[in-house]
Amino acid sequence: MKLEQISENTYYIPGAINIGVIRVKNDAVLIDTGLDREAGRRILRLLEKNNLKVKAIINTHSHADHFGGDRYIVRRTNAKVYAPEIEAGIIQYPFLEPLYLYSAHPVKDLMNRFLMAEATKVDFVLNVKNKTELDFGGEFPIVDVLPLPGHSPNQIGVEVDNVLYCADSVFSRKVIKKYKIPLFMDVERQKQTLSFLEKSEYEHYVPCHAETTNDISELVESNLDVIRKVEEFLISLKEGTTEDILRKLCQEFEIKLNNFTEYYLMMSALRAYLSYLYNEGLLAANFDEVLYWKVTRLDKVG
Ligand SMILES: [Zn+2]
Repeated sequence: MKLEQISENTYYIPGAINIGVIRVKNDAVLIDTGLDREAGRRILRLLEKNNLKVKAIINTHSHADHFGGDRYIVRRTNAKVYAPEIEAGIIQYPFLEPLYLYSAHPVKDLMNRFLMAEATKVDFVLNVKNKTELDFGGEFPIVDVLPLPGHSPNQIGVEVDNVLYCADSVFSRKVIKKYKIPLFMDVERQKQTLSFLEKSEYEHYVPCHAETTNDISELVESNLDVIRKVEEFLISLKEGTTEDILRKLCQEFEIKLNNFTEYYLMMSALRAYLSYLYNEGLLAANFDEVLYWKVTRLDKVG
């Protein structure tokens, strides 16, 4: 693990997820903390080696691999935790994650460390409708948080010194190749987020699951491309139950679901497309013993 500098005050720690670090003298603000206490321990050790004290943690969203190290770090540093609304609920009550994936008391397999990190108290719940300034006092530069929803309901990005820490708003080609269909829980807002990123002109972008870059357009394009392909495929199916559609989608995209976690995450990704297409008027729903989806219009969505 090492601390890579981006600009005067901005750094990141490359790893399973890229952790953001905003630094002023011996104080640091962390952006996300990794999967678990071991990740938290390694981050803290690295910061201590660099004479840095953690003042605050900004969690971009509530997936376990982004806030799992919070508790370990908070207990040792008294750092204050910032997180957006909704996401803060899950960070404080991680059981909500398997609960909403399963939509009832979950099977025990879903209560695992990838879906349920240790709970942490969130000190500042952020309502981020627009760019919002966070004040860390002292000589800290202006830190703005901004909405990047889609991958999760209220995901935020962090902007400082013309660097955008853009969380899971885009995934690398490698990640897309591996998982085939990345998890976007709100397709409409994900498209808006991608369009915002496309038009943006930051000097540096730090996604959590892709290399840092000066030009985000290629990443935006490959993420948009997979969204378009899924939409087109779903429209081409014409009709089916959710389970029928999931099976066909997995065949088409060569996805093998091996366990409850993979099944429910993919189901979540699919349901996001179904609600989006239904809300746009391109799908109809019939209730004939089971829920049956039917394509109503063949035109393309925006
Ligand atoms: Zn995520």
